[in-house]
Amino acid sequence: MIKRQKILVTGRVQGVGFRPAVYRLACRLGLAGIVYNDTKGVTIELQGEEKTIAEFLARLQSEPDKPPLAQIKSCRAVDIAVIEGQDKFTIKPSDPQGTALSQVTADIAACQDCLAEMADENDFRHEYPFINCTNCGPRYSIVKTIPYDRPNTTMSVFKMCPKCAAQYEDVTDRRFHAQPVACPICGPKIWLTDSKGQTIIAKTDSSIAEAARLLRAGKIVAIKGIGGFHLAVDALAEQAVRRLRQRKRRDHKPFAMMAGSIEKIKKYAIVSELAEQVLKSPQSPIVLLPKKKGSAIAPSVAGGVDTFGFMLCYAPLHYLLFAQGIEVLVMTSGNISDEPLICKNEKALEKLGQVADAFLMHDREIYRQVDDSVIHFIDGQPVPLRRARGYVPTPIFMEENCRQDIFAAGSDLKNTLCLVKQNQLICSEHIGDLEDAQVYHHYIDSIEHLRQLFEVEPKVAVSDLHPSYLSTQYARSLSGVKIVQVQHHWAHIASVLVEHGLSGPVIGIVCDGTGYGTDGAIWGCECMIASLEKFERFGHLAYYDLPGADRASKEAIRPLLSLLKKSWGKDFRLPNFDWLFERIKPETTENSKFKIQNSKFILEQIEKRINCVQTSSLGRVFDAVAAMLGLGSYNHFDAQLPMALEAIIESGIEDHYDFELISRANEAVQLDLGKTLKQLIADVQNDLGAGTISAKFHNTLSIALLAMAKQARESTKLNIVALSGGVFCNRYLTDRLIRLLRQNGFRVLFNREVPANDGGLSLGQAAIAAYIVSRGV
Ligand SMILES: [Zn+2]
Ligand SMILES: [Zn+2]
Repeated sequence: MIKRQKILVTGRVQGVGFRPAVYRLACRLGLAGIVYNDTKGVTIELQGEEKTIAEFLARLQSEPDKPPLAQIKSCRAVDIAVIEGQDKFTIKPSDPQGTALSQVTADIAACQDCLAEMADENDFRHEYPFINCTNCGPRYSIVKTIPYDRPNTTMSVFKMCPKCAAQYEDVTDRRFHAQPVACPICGPKIWLTDSKGQTIIAKTDSSIAEAARLLRAGKIVAIKGIGGFHLAVDALAEQAVRRLRQRKRRDHKPFAMMAGSIEKIKKYAIVSELAEQVLKSPQSPIVLLPKKKGSAIAPSVAGGVDTFGFMLCYAPLHYLLFAQGIEVLVMTSGNISDEPLICKNEKALEKLGQVADAFLMHDREIYRQVDDSVIHFIDGQPVPLRRARGYVPTPIFMEENCRQDIFAAGSDLKNTLCLVKQNQLICSEHIGDLEDAQVYHHYIDSIEHLRQLFEVEPKVAVSDLHPSYLSTQYARSLSGVKIVQVQHHWAHIASVLVEHGLSGPVIGIVCDGTGYGTDGAIWGCECMIASLEKFERFGHLAYYDLPGADRASKEAIRPLLSLLKKSWGKDFRLPNFDWLFERIKPETTENSKFKIQNSKFILEQIEKRINCVQTSSLGRVFDAVAAMLGLGSYNHFDAQLPMALEAIIESGIEDHYDFELISRANEAVQLDLGKTLKQLIADVQNDLGAGTISAKFHNTLSIALLAMAKQARESTKLNIVALSGGVFCNRYLTDRLIRLLRQNGFRVLFNREVPANDGGLSLGQAAIAAYIVSRGV
C-alpha cells in the first residue's frame, strides 16, 4: 500500500550534505517526495510502499548511506495524505530569508575518498594539497558571513574551473555544494619563503619537498594549515626542539606532535583502541597518550608530564609533507608565548620571522583562527581539555527552545564564550587568557563574528561574579540587555547538567584553582546542591589565607606557608621547617623575582593580613604538595605543578592520609586537611618516595570528596553527583573518585562535550540563563 510520511530529523543535519544524501537514497529506493531544511533540522516527505519507507529510515541512519558528518539526534515520522501522481523526489532549496539553523559546520580532516584521489596519478587533483569534498575540508575557519555560500567564504577569490563547477552543481556528486571545492588549475597554491618572506620556491610540489628537507635537517618551519600556522620541528632532534622553545619563549609547556600514521604514533606512545578511534575521527584532535618508556622523542618535547600529545595529519598538505620521509614533528601553535594563534601570512612573517627558518605559505585565507583541540580520557571516555578545531561551532542541544537569545561571557582564563539561539548552545572555540591584550581583542571580535554568523541578538548577557574579570566588565558594559551574574562553581555544575539534558538538583562537586564566591572569598573546592535554578553551598575545603593575590597562583611557596601555618596553628615555627624549605627547588623567572628567602616576608603578610584573601582553592594545595616533593616551586603555565604531581604517582598504592569533615550547625561542612599535611610532611621527612606520597595525597582527596558526597546524600536524599572544575582534568584523581562514588551507589556525571576546566564555564552560564529566561524566574 502506498503511504506518505513526514519525517522531522533533528541533530547535526544541516551543512553536512544531508539533503543530497537523502535525495540519492530516495532515488535509489524509488521513493517520491521532497526534502528541505527548516528551523528544527531537516524535514523529509516520503511517498511509496510502507516497507520501502521503513528501509529508507533504517539505511539513512547507518553506514554507508548516512552522511559521515551527520549526527541524528531524533527522527520522528507521522503519516500524512498521499499526493496523487507524485513520482519524483526533489530537494527544496533553502530560503535565504528563512530562519533555518545556521549551516556553518566545523573544519573536518581530509576524508578517505579525497586521500585516495590525491594519491591517484590519474586524478586531476593528484597531490593537490587543498583537495576536499562535502564530507571534509575547512568550513568554520573560512566563513566570513552567512549564508554559507562560496562568495561569503575566503574561497570567493578563486573562480571555479569548469571541471570543479560541474562537480559542485551535480547533486549526485560528492562535491555537490562543497564550498571550498578547488583543483590545481583554479584553486589555492603553496609556496615557500625564507624568514624574511622572500620566496625561495614558488611551485607547490617542490615547496613541500624543500620544507620537508629543511625539517629533516633540524630547521624550524612555520606551516600554514587549516586554523592557523603551526611551528614545526623534528620531534626526535633535541637541539632543534630546544631552539624552538627558546625562540618561541615557551620554556616548559609540553609540545604537541603530529605523525603520518597510527603505526608511527604507536612507536612512541601507548594507543588504546578507543584512542585510535579518536585520533582517526573526522575531528582529528590532539590526543593525550601514555608515553612509551625509553622512546626516541626528544626529552624537551614534553618534560614533567607522563603523556605525549599526538595528532594525525589532517590537512591534505600534512599528508604530502609527511610522505617526504618525515617521521614525527612537533606541531605547536604558531604564536609567541600566550598570544593568539596567527593565521594571516603577513602577521606570521612579522611575528614569527625570528622563530621560523622558513614559511610554507598558501593563499587560501584563514578567516577565523582555530587551535587544535585536545582530548584525554576520563573513566575510559574521551573528554576535551581544549575544544576548538573539529568540534566548534557544533552546538549542544537543549530539549526546549529558549525564548530569548543569550550571550554568556565565560571565564577570564581559558576563555570560551557561548551563545544561545532557539534550542542550541553554541560555544566558541578556545580563545585563551583574556589578560593578554591581543587575546582580549580577539575575544571582542569573536563575540561580534559569532553573533552575526548565527544571527543572535542577545537580550540577556550572563557573566561570572568576579568584579575584576574583563569578561564580567564587558558583559556589564552592554546596553539594552538584562545582566545575569552566575557564581563560578555553580556554572561549572550547570555545564554538566545541560550536557546530560538535566536541570537538577544534584550533588555538585567542583574542584578548581579559583572562582569568586558569594562571600567575597576565593572558592575552589566546593560541594553544592545545585540545579539550573539555584544552588546551595553544602560544603567546602576549610578556608586558608592566600597571600599575594595573583602571584599566589604561580608561586607555590605562598599557599605552602599559609597551609603550614594553618595546620600547626600556634605551634608553627618557621625554623622548624628549614629542612623542608631546603628541599624546595628555588625558581626565578623573568616576571617574578621570587626567592625562597622571601618566606619571612610572606609569613608577615599572612599574619598582618596584607593583600591576603581567604580561599578554599584545591589547585593551590596541589601546588604546595608538589613544591614539598621537590617538583618545582613555580607554575610557568597553568597547572604545571599539579600535573607534575600527577605524573609521578606510584601505581598500586592504596594508602591514604587522615582528614576531617567538620560540621557545625548552620554552617557548610568543612573539609580540613591539617592532619593530611602533617602526616604527609612526616612522610617527606622519613624519605618515603615522592611517587608514594603523591599517590597517598591523591587517594586522600578522593576519599574525602566521597565522604563529603555521602554527607550531602544523607541530608538531601539526592543520589546523582556531578563533577566539574579544572582539578578534574587530573585523570588519577577523577577516575578514582568516580569508581568510589559508583561503588557507593551514586550515579556520576562529568563533562563530555566541553572541558571540565574554565573552557566549559560559558556553557554552564548560558544554561542557567536559558533556564531563567524560560521559567521567567
Ligand atoms: Zn573529502
Ligand atoms: Zn578546478
